[in-house]
Amino acid sequence: MFKLDTIISLAKRKGFVFQSSEIYGGLNGCWDFGPLGVELLRNYKEAWWKEMTYRDNIEGLDASILMHPRTWEASGHTKQFSDPMIDNKTSKSRHRADNLIEEFIEKLKNKKKEALALEIETELIKVQKNEDYYNIIMNYEIPDPISGTKDWTEVRNFNLMFKTFVGPIEDESSIVFLRPETAQGIFVNFKNVMESARQKVPFGIAQIGKAFRNEINTKNFLFRTREFEQMEMQYFIKPGNEVEQFEYWKNERMRWYENLGFKKEKLKFKKHEKLAHYADNAADIEFEFPFGFGEIEGIHSRTDFDLKAHQEFSGKKMEYVDTVNQERFVPYVIETSGGVSRGVMALLCNCYDEEKLVDENGKEDTRVVMRFTNALAPIKAAVFPLVNKDGMPELATLIYKDLQKSFKVEYDTSGAIGRRYRRQDEVGTPFCITIDGESVSENTVTVRHRDSMKQDRLSVENLKAYLFEHLNK
Ligand code: ATP
Repeated sequence: MFKLDTIISLAKRKGFVFQSSEIYGGLNGCWDFGPLGVELLRNYKEAWWKEMTYRDNIEGLDASILMHPRTWEASGHTKQFSDPMIDNKTSKSRHRADNLIEEFIEKLKNKKKEALALEIETELIKVQKNEDYYNIIMNYEIPDPISGTKDWTEVRNFNLMFKTFVGPIEDESSIVFLRPETAQGIFVNFKNVMESARQKVPFGIAQIGKAFRNEINTKNFLFRTREFEQMEMQYFIKPGNEVEQFEYWKNERMRWYENLGFKKEKLKFKKHEKLAHYADNAADIEFEFPFGFGEIEGIHSRTDFDLKAHQEFSGKKMEYVDTVNQERFVPYVIETSGGVSRGVMALLCNCYDEEKLVDENGKEDTRVVMRFTNALAPIKAAVFPLVNKDGMPELATLIYKDLQKSFKVEYDTSGAIGRRYRRQDEVGTPFCITIDGESVSENTVTVRHRDSMKQDRLSVENLKAYLFEHLNK
């Protein structure tokens, strides 16, 4: 397992992720995607978009971030979208009470104190109100990770929605919220999409977009940020089919992560013991980050809670009329809700590798390789003239310009060829194309494969078709 710091420093050095507003000292919980990061992010979203919407019965949507404030009353966010917050009086540090307890449990497990860890875990599942969190923290003498002291304030609720105002007057009537999830944009458009796309239940609506949560603590790089993207799909079904559909979507989503190159042993399901107010079943897909397993996607059986709530608050019918069976019902919903930036962070951790090499003279070396699948790799191929003379740069430029019409390609002339290969390995480029003396006389190139480091010699004519074939795999 590699350290998170190794991934963060590579991400910065290579232009995957920068701290937001870095020159001003940064803004907590906000990150910027650099030139390679944005390519990776786009490829990741594209893979999800194709997977979810290139089907008969799932339609796409791009709803606005600001919504009518009644939306959040109906969904329960105004009242219930809060986390339990606790402060340490000595260090003045602020924590999410549930996370503080969970981290303490993890530490106990690492120290092989399984019985005590299990006991606290059981208490945590039973929590009903803030006082229960407080009692666990006091009874088990959970210390502040910063000061080590146990002088805690009581536990209070903190609403995670960011507030702002529409128009010039900042009063109660002009308050709006930055959406804390993309799902509600889907629910309020349920009828619009169904009718315009002439869909029948069962069908789904998929959306990728920004969401904002004023998290009490942001940490672990992109894992918990205040601004992030979600990729969510709500699947509308006939009541009674939720158990079967929940299992179906859980497996579909796990399969997607596996196909994307996530290592099977680093993925697992975690069933929710405690359910949100809208759910009758929920499970997370978790990935093993350097700091332990953490959620990357939630699959939720949301019943008819959201559509019924919007029906009540808006006064507009959210029923589905099945004309064949002469039935009317408010559909149930199975939701798949994944984080884009959190998923990309998981991908960086999953694909980072340090490979030990020994050359023919027995000299040891380590090469850093990002083992992205071809579809996700930010740069698909790099083109190198072996030396900057004898017609090589001219032919290399021609090849580069031609490939650039179809893929993201890089051109590199600087340093020894071995160094150029390594530079591409570090960012996961699957193919390196070298133009050497033979290329000029014979019109051929070498194609070096990132993982095997093997080289094929190909005619320039066949190069594009060869890349197309391999990049689509
Ligand atoms: P948690 O309990 O960890 O706060 P959650 O269960 O509230 O998270 P969901 O509401 O189910 O999370 O969100 C769905 C997905 O959105 C998560 O699986 C995660 O990938 C992503 N996500 C949620 N909150 C954040 C965040 N603050 N930063 C980055 N991604 C997030």
